[in-house]
This record gives sequence, C-alpha cells and structure tokens, in this order.
Amino acid sequence: MKAEIIAVGTELLLGQIVNTNAQYIAQQLALLGVDVYFQTVVGDNKMRLRSVLEAARERADIVLLTGGLGPTMDDLTKDVVAELFARSMSYHEPSMEKMERFFQERGVTMIESNRRQALLIEGADPLDNEAGLAVGNAMLVDDVAYIMLPGPPKEMKPMFELQVIPWLEKHVFAERSSLYSRMLKFAGIGESALEAELIDLIEQQADPTIAPYAKEGEVLIRLATKSADEDEAERKLNRLEEEIRSRVGQYIFATEDISLERAVVARMRELGLTLSAAESCTGGLFAQLVTSVPGSSQVFAGGVVAYSNELKQRALGVPPTLLEGESAPGAVSAETAAAMAEGVLALTEADLAVAITGVAGPDSQEGKPVGLVYIAIAERGHSVVTEQLRVNGNREMVRLRSAKAVLVRVWRRLNAIQAAR
Ligand code: ATP
Repeated sequence: MKAEIIAVGTELLLGQIVNTNAQYIAQQLALLGVDVYFQTVVGDNKMRLRSVLEAARERADIVLLTGGLGPTMDDLTKDVVAELFARSMSYHEPSMEKMERFFQERGVTMIESNRRQALLIEGADPLDNEAGLAVGNAMLVDDVAYIMLPGPPKEMKPMFELQVIPWLEKHVFAERSSLYSRMLKFAGIGESALEAELIDLIEQQADPTIAPYAKEGEVLIRLATKSADEDEAERKLNRLEEEIRSRVGQYIFATEDISLERAVVARMRELGLTLSAAESCTGGLFAQLVTSVPGSSQVFAGGVVAYSNELKQRALGVPPTLLEGESAPGAVSAETAAAMAEGVLALTEADLAVAITGVAGPDSQEGKPVGLVYIAIAERGHSVVTEQLRVNGNREMVRLRSAKAVLVRVWRRLNAIQAAR
C-alpha cells in the first residue's frame, strides 16, 4: 500500500517552520506497514495544490494532507479537494456547536470566517479535533483515501492516532484484507518505564509491531499485524498481548480507546460503589473528569471544592490544629489531605473518597514548592492512605496531572477491592 504526504503552507516553503508533521506521519505509517513513496511541500496556492493532488491521486492509495484547515482565506486545503472532485461542502453541526461554545465561554464574538473550520466535504467523514477547532476530513474517492489534517502538531498528532488509524483500519486496511490492530491502554506507569519493561519486544518486533504512544496523562500501545484473515490476526495479537500482560498486566485498564475516567466509572458501577472528592488545588477538576462520563451519577456522590482554610474546616472538619500555627503541617500536607478525604467521606456517605491538596503555582505556598501535592484515598472501614506527589509543569498541568494521578489510585484501589471479593 502506497501513501503520499502533502504538507500545505507557505511558511514551510520559506523555511520559517520545519516540516515535522511529515516526519511524524511517515514514522506512523511505517509502523502501520504502509510505504510512503512521495512527500511534497506546497504553498497556500490553489492551483499548485491542485496540481500536486492530481499527481498524487494517480500514484497513491492514501493521500495525507496537513495544514490549511484554519479560518483564514489562505487556508484552502478543503476547498481545493472539494473542487477537484466536484463535491459540495457543508457545516459539520457538532463542530459548529463546539466552536460556538468555545467562543461563548470566552465571551468573545465569533468571527464569521471561523465557520470554515467546521466544513465537511460531501461524502467525507469528520475527524474530531480534540485539541483545536478545525475538523479533519477523511474520504475515499475511486479507491484512494484523502485525509485532511490540521497543521499544528498538537492538533494533528492526537487526530492521527485516535481518528485516522481507526478510520484507515475500517475503510482502507480491512477492505484490502491486511492490517489488524489492537490498543492497550495503561495507567499508573510512565511511557519510559513501560518501554523499559517491553524493550526486548519493541526492539525485536516484526509481526505484530508494537508502537507506544503518550497522550497527556495516558500511555498506550498499539499492536498491529498484517494477516491473511481475522482469525490469524487474533491469534497473533492474543499471543503478544498475553506476553505483555504477563509483564505489565496490572497497569492495563482497557483494550479499546476509552478514557481512564470512563473505565473507573464502569468498574465502580460493576462493583456497586460510590465515590466523592474533596479538592483544593484542582478546584473541582477531578469531579469534572468523573462527571464527564455519562452514567457517572450512579457512582459519583459529589465533591467539595475547599480552597480556603476556613472552608476546609467548616465543610470538611479539618482540625484547625493542622492548618494554623507555626508548627502545624499546613494546608498542603499529608495530614490535611487525609482529614479532607475523611471529611468528605463522612459528609457524602460514599464508599470511597479522595482528596487533593497542593501547590499548583506559579508561586510557592506556605514555603512549599510548586508541584508538591498530597493526595489521599479513604475507604469506608479502612484507614486512609496518603501519598506525596512531585508534579511537573505549569499551573494547568499540575492541576490536571494531580487529578489524573488520583484517578489512577482509584483505579488501583478498585482492582484490589475486586480481587478481594
Ligand atoms: P490554523 O487553524 O492554526 O490556521 P491550519 O490547519 O490552517 O491551522 P496552518 O495554518 O497551515 O494550519 O499552520 C498552522 C501552524 O501549524 C503553523 O504556523 C505551524 O506552527 C504548524 N504547522 C503547519 N504545518 C506544519 C508542518 N508540516 N510541520 C510542523 N508544523 C506545522
């Protein structure tokens, strides 16, 4: 199977930016067993982009375009593809709604041209953009796949890994009876630690291939095999998955693309348990992650965002001796995290409760450094467990990573509860 990568953008031609997208996509395609025969860079020019596309459609099975999906007049990738195949375009409603929400939440009036980012070519499938506003397009014309991706790497990469690969599997690889893949998702182990555990498998990989990915707060690997039929593929993938499970099985939380919060909610429902949260530095982010999952109302009792010391005392019953005075451990301490978790457990009468208190930055607090976070997990009938984390990153990253770290602890605790039953 032959692919061609077309990077669109005058900035690339002028050498103002480096074409890292082509490198990334080429590497990804190699892992999928797809050969890249041509890579082109073309400016924001309709005629020249069209001529590049005309050449590509004659010689490639998959044409991947990056860049030119933005709101401005020089963003013309979709227009040129639509024109080439005489297709109309319409607005993809969910993307329009997302965009309207985006501007509304920021109190900014949406400039009309932004709508262009929600355009979908007639007959194309939308590729969700989880890090931006421009919706990707993927379509088949005369057995050639055209995939249009945004330019910014932070938007393009998740779209490639989470949308393009499954789309290709469904519409291109399956049709040509070759490539089968499986995703394993991990929690509680970093990408490098996982690689260290699997290094021999990764280095010796042939068929199936193993490709690790890291998204913010998540680690996943994709196993892929070229096989004559699904049974043979299943056998090969099962064998490799078993080997991986025998080494790092305790960290696997899904074999499909679901989030950890979704896995936690599903597991809690299975076990018939409820959860609550007391949050300080994360300001409700943990509760937001959990409640973003449909059906979480059966699991999540609620939470308290106790930012001030006063509310920590009043709402959660944290003893003043922990918070006030020279020798008190302070708001950012294991003792306070434990008291917060026990407080919210009692308040909500849930089965499990978590607490998060820390220094999100940018300034230190109580003489404690940015990124110092204490978390606690309390379970009815058990003593509370606390842990100190040192979280890297800016304020937003410290908050998100702390909330996700707590999710991992909840996941592990649920595994232990399940094993004990
Ligand atoms: P936007 O909505 O930001 O306009 P877009 O899909 O229209 O996105 P471009 O306008 O072509 O994309 O590029 C936006 C930015 O994405 C560029 O300024 C550059 O930082 C990055 N970018 C674009 N193409 C590439 C590439 N091939 N490799 C690396 N980075 C790229």
